Amino acid sequence: MLFFGFFVMKKEFEKSETKVVLPGEFLSTGEEFVPGRNAFDSGSDVYSDTIGFVQADNKTKEISVKPAVELHALKRGSIVLGRVGLVKENSVLIELCKSPGSEERQILASGRAVLPVRNVSREYVENLSLCFKIGDIVRARVSEILPGNNIDLETNQPDFGVLKAFCSRCRKPLHLFGTSLRCINCGSSEERKIAKGYLVK
Ligand SMILES: [Zn+2]
Repeated sequence: MLFFGFFVMKKEFEKSETKVVLPGEFLSTGEEFVPGRNAFDSGSDVYSDTIGFVQADNKTKEISVKPAVELHALKRGSIVLGRVGLVKENSVLIELCKSPGSEERQILASGRAVLPVRNVSREYVENLSLCFKIGDIVRARVSEILPGNNIDLETNQPDFGVLKAFCSRCRKPLHLFGTSLRCINCGSSEERKIAKGYLVK
């Protein structure tokens, strides 16, 4: 069961370089840590249940994946993770799904945010579909909250953009080689607006 968690992260994140993990990602061996919040045991290892930041407590030997700020705290400048739902000519729709057990259901009923083409990059973007594709995992910042809880995002900084992309031919994760993305399964090469800290190397 995979949930894509929607998390608003602490500002400190940018400084602390906390590791971002995805649902099903390996966290540690069961000998090193026991699963805490948003983590689970499978076999002898511990995995992440959701998207978020790894927090390892060396005293309690517990490893968790943590949403840093609750959703109602969403505001201009908040950093979010989401998944690309649709790429249109002038905007990208990002799905902001709540984490399991979140109490902010009503706030995220819509669960969507918009990344307008003008907010994508500092450079001119000619073809938005070369920057993002459906299913990509994205880190972005809230640029504006419009009436009706419509959330506008921006990715026009090196930290923001695609954290994990999938091959449009075979759907396998794309690996980062230097500044380009390549599928090691089928050999396809693809472009994206890649975020610093892209997850698949
Ligand atoms: Zn491929």
